[in-house]
Amino acid sequence: MTEVLVLIDPGTATITSAPLDSPQLPVTDLSAHRGDGVFETVLVHVDPTTKEPTVVSRERHFARFHSSASALDLPEPDRRLWRQAVDTVVAETIAANPGITEFGVRYSLSRGGAAPRGWAFSVPIDESLTTARAEGVRAVSIDRGYPAYLGRSAPWLLIGAKTLSYAVNQAAIRHAKAQGVEEVLFVSHDGVVLEGPTSNIVIRRGDHLLTPDPAAGLLAGTTQRLLFDHAGRLELRADFADLSLDDVHAADGAWLVSSMRTAVTLRELDGRELSRDEALTREFQRIIAAG
Ligand code: PLP
Repeated sequence: MTEVLVLIDPGTATITSAPLDSPQLPVTDLSAHRGDGVFETVLVHVDPTTKEPTVVSRERHFARFHSSASALDLPEPDRRLWRQAVDTVVAETIAANPGITEFGVRYSLSRGGAAPRGWAFSVPIDESLTTARAEGVRAVSIDRGYPAYLGRSAPWLLIGAKTLSYAVNQAAIRHAKAQGVEEVLFVSHDGVVLEGPTSNIVIRRGDHLLTPDPAAGLLAGTTQRLLFDHAGRLELRADFADLSLDDVHAADGAWLVSSMRTAVTLRELDGRELSRDEALTREFQRIIAAG
């Protein structure tokens, strides 16, 4: 896939297209050496017949971008400017890749240097994602290192903001690989299941979909929200719950969900096979494809 980039100047509310492989970011940018910024990644579907693109959960993403920026005391992102940037990346990506049906767009707001700066670029759906969608994934559970609900008394930890500081999440994924599995599942220090490094967990127990409460110490996922908003159509109830690892082991189905992976079956946790519900996996994937 040919990837495209748009640079965003929040100060002047302007966007400029630029080659992705040209130098763009001064090393003094605070996102580069402090991770001091926020981002979102949206999935884009392109209808093969009409060529009409759909940005999945566009407004859910922008709402979270807005609240992440607020948590970091960054200037309020201008909805019109960021929408224009995403639409430009979408249009240029489709123009550069005729026949493309799916890709992601990542957009970021950095504290910058003298002034904040932003950018948006397209990202391909890599092979590990398509394999995970088709085959599911295995995970090991690991301690997140803090008790559940810590964010309520320690807002400076920015738990629940989607910041550009993902070194811990990346380290967790390397830990999974070192254990011979694809994913990890973070658990609070006091035993409450939280999330994956780049995903939320959803389980089915009978006719009930359950997911951890974002307030417990995790990112409020747009994909989880989209699925829960459609749960009624599937004749399922949907709620937040404090889940233990035993609850995941005993579930009738478990999924890792996020914008780019969509809904992926969690088929093994800590070396033990989990019950699978592939019919519901397909329903989830259909709901996400419809945006
Ligand atoms: N949790 C974390 C830590 C994430 O990084 C992500 C997405 O990248 C998610 C959850 C899922 O969020 P979404 O469904 O909005 O992609």
